[in-house]
Amino acid sequence: MSLLTLDVSKCVHTSNKFAICDKCVQACPVQTIHLENSAISFTPSECVGCGGCNAVCPTAAYTLDDFNPMNYIFQFLEDEKSVLTCKDENFPCIASLSVEELLSVALISSEKITLDVGPCAECEIAKTNLAVINNRAEEVNFLLEAMQQEKSLNVAALNFEIKKESDTLSRRKLLSKEGVKTAITIKQQLQNEVDASDNNVKTHAVTAKDIMKIKEKTIPDRRSLLLMAMKRAKVPDIFHTISIDDISFVSQKDLDETTCTNCQMCYRICPTGALSSDHRGSKIDFNPLACVQCHSCHDVCEPHSLTLRKTFSLSTFFEPKIETLVRFDIKRCDECGNFFAYQGGEKICNRCRIEEEEAKELWGIQ
Ligand code: SF4
Ligand code: SF4
Ligand code: SF4
Repeated sequence: MSLLTLDVSKCVHTSNKFAICDKCVQACPVQTIHLENSAISFTPSECVGCGGCNAVCPTAAYTLDDFNPMNYIFQFLEDEKSVLTCKDENFPCIASLSVEELLSVALISSEKITLDVGPCAECEIAKTNLAVINNRAEEVNFLLEAMQQEKSLNVAALNFEIKKESDTLSRRKLLSKEGVKTAITIKQQLQNEVDASDNNVKTHAVTAKDIMKIKEKTIPDRRSLLLMAMKRAKVPDIFHTISIDDISFVSQKDLDETTCTNCQMCYRICPTGALSSDHRGSKIDFNPLACVQCHSCHDVCEPHSLTLRKTFSLSTFFEPKIETLVRFDIKRCDECGNFFAYQGGEKICNRCRIEEEEAKELWGIQ
């Protein structure tokens, strides 16, 4: 049985109580994931270990103890395999791979990749996951065509058998090895099995350690893989612009500089560092290739100054550039000494002004 864990620090709800993301809740074929009051919960014994939640999570917040998508992909490519099938040992479900991962495999492999949906005919979770697999293949094929790559993913029901090692056999193999490392591995495996059979709902509370980790801006491994795959891809003759509805994992942004208050929330909350500024907060930069379309920056922008561009230019993958969305005139606040966006005439920053107004109200001063 697989053991699913959630890195709470990566879930966008941990840093932003206004976050709207519920992608993992929607993706889970056994409906064990719930989101209430910005906290994710699931029952370990109900999880079937398909990995579908992690594949849709923009920040890749989930892990399965017995499946690491990156390790699997590298081995798959090294072995020059061409069929992704859940009949393969240690591969839970095609839905465990995100659009980015499938696109990367298609771009890097010299083989034509087939997604074997043959086993879906007899699989309970295929009711949810088969549509997911087909939609992802459609998105990947659309992008490959729009980027003029002579590649495509094939979806087919194959009569494909890969001999799996039986549990007894692999356990026997494990037990035949000697040494402390093996003993630790066996102990960990047994512990994982005990944890995975837990029938209680596991609610993921936020700890001080999670709060500290939020500050680390990182892009998921799958994004690094895609950027590597894109470097190997043929540069198209024409760079097409596609609708944002046709690409699920990156975005381009527009910012209305007349309404933006330079509150700094969007780039402070951005989990990947796609949005950033300089030490004085004098501008907002945007790197589309680091954006994971988590929507957090939009959710937190009170004046709705930041908007999702309706289109996405595929040139972004081949000629990456960081856009400056807005620049501010910067002045030091006479009260707190911090820099603030100067509109003209103000002597103190917005925060000090609000504090001053609140203090006046409290003391009944006009
Ligand atoms: S691994 Fe699959 S079954 Fe388990 S919680 Fe995630 S989506 Fe649900
Ligand atoms: S960020 Fe990931 S874990 Fe959090 S709600 Fe969204 S999909 Fe689920
Ligand atoms: S730019 Fe916005 S949507 Fe993109 S990763 Fe950052 S917070 Fe998420």
